[in-house]
Amino acid sequence: MSEYEQLIRQINECKLCALSQKRNLAVPGEGSLNADIVFIGEGPGFYEDQQGRPFVGAAGQLLENLLESIGFNREDVYITNMVKCRPPNNRDPLPGEIVECRPYLDRQLEIINPKVIVTLGRYSFAKFFPGIPISKGRGIPQKWNNLLIYPVYHPAAALRNGKFRSVLERDFQGLPRILEGKFQDANQAENDNSRQIKLF
Ligand code: SF4
Repeated sequence: MSEYEQLIRQINECKLCALSQKRNLAVPGEGSLNADIVFIGEGPGFYEDQQGRPFVGAAGQLLENLLESIGFNREDVYITNMVKCRPPNNRDPLPGEIVECRPYLDRQLEIINPKVIVTLGRYSFAKFFPGIPISKGRGIPQKWNNLLIYPVYHPAAALRNGKFRSVLERDFQGLPRILEGKFQDANQAENDNSRQIKLF
């Protein structure tokens, strides 16, 4: 059994936090282990919990449409969440649940080693940049250690609010250029913010 398969088995059997008690199925994540892009959402919802697969509901359909708009399909990328089990009634994951589940996500990122990590919504953005509101960080690729993070709004938020949807669609259009390395450190370009990176 490969290291990845062992990890998935561990997640499926995990009882580290209380979310294990009410889940139907854990949702470890899925996609290509050679992916250039990893998407990180918040946590599984109702349909994900039923099927054991991430982003299979309406938000997942929007994510697939957004991927298609830039020439990708979901098999080309890897998709996962901050917590691998569904929070009851789709409540927000608690800080303790995120902490317990974090080593699984960290291991997935080490195994896949993508060019870009796209954080979907505020929880996955806060994993890398706590304290920066998603409304300020979205659409700006930023280096974090050796990883490149590209924060965007969560597709579920875009389904609720048309303004978020057009911003999300625009931010997705920036992804191919980021993958091609067409961005520069804003520190070099502007000297006014050492952490931000801008698209050409
Ligand atoms: S959410 Fe994560 S830590 Fe909690 S039971 Fe599920 S896999 Fe384990």
